[in-house]
Amino acid sequence: MSLLKLENVTIRFGGLVAVNNVNLSVEKGSIHALIGPNGAGKSTIFNLITGIYTPTAGKISFLDRPIQGMPTYQIAGRGIGRTFQNIRLFADLPVVDNVLIGAHTQGKWDLAGSIMKFTPWVKREEGELLDLATSCLHMVDLAYRAFELAGNLPYGEQRRLEIARALALKPELLLLDEPAAGMNPQEKGALMEMVQRIRATGITVFLVEHDMKFVMGLSDRIAVLDYGEKIAEGIPHEVRNNPKVIEAYLGKTK
Ligand code: ADP
Ligand code: MG
Repeated sequence: MSLLKLENVTIRFGGLVAVNNVNLSVEKGSIHALIGPNGAGKSTIFNLITGIYTPTAGKISFLDRPIQGMPTYQIAGRGIGRTFQNIRLFADLPVVDNVLIGAHTQGKWDLAGSIMKFTPWVKREEGELLDLATSCLHMVDLAYRAFELAGNLPYGEQRRLEIARALALKPELLLLDEPAAGMNPQEKGALMEMVQRIRATGITVFLVEHDMKFVMGLSDRIAVLDYGEKIAEGIPHEVRNNPKVIEAYLGKTK
């Protein structure tokens, strides 16, 4: 069953066609990767799916309902959680609070700080929320850091904290934008296990990543983007041996 579907999706920024007539379908329960050179349009596709951008043309549907043009928080509410290519955490707040912000305000990032200060939900539902946050932190092996300040965590753990925050939304689909970037091989291996653990709970994962060992070892399917166009898609073995993909991308990666 197709959980997420992009049909003929295009977005233009002035004269630049960042995403050009892309068709893509993510199967429920799968780990699907999106790869391609820098500037290919990968993050833009995530921004289109999550409502940060509205497509110039085409259709995006989630669970068979159109979502393009909907505000970010509504799309998040339908069950799409995400992390960003660059870390976005509240460094001065405890780890657990960073996770709880995800449960309530994903997609309303700019408002999150002020909401944290004023809303009574923090106290009202304290026990329940703490349980939710703890279970999300367990998924990424960070429960032991719950009450430290997010800013004090090493880089690799901050990236995992972002995943925990996205999980607090209880998403059906989780989008990860370069989750392994900046991690050492050992951290990447651990992250692969965590992504598998997340999928085992029934969450579908759609990820952008440059590390080919990570992508090939983890993904059920891989779509390849180049200059905004999907140039190939298939199982890892097919993609790895596709001459177009080697020419556009794999020939240039380590
Ligand atoms: P990738 O994630 O594959 O490295 P991006 O999706 O970030 O690539 O960017 C694809 C192209 O779209 C780039 O040329 C980028 O500069 C451009 N782009 C992305 N967002 C915007 C925007 N808001 N305004 C103008 N150009 C943009
Ligand atoms: Mg990107």
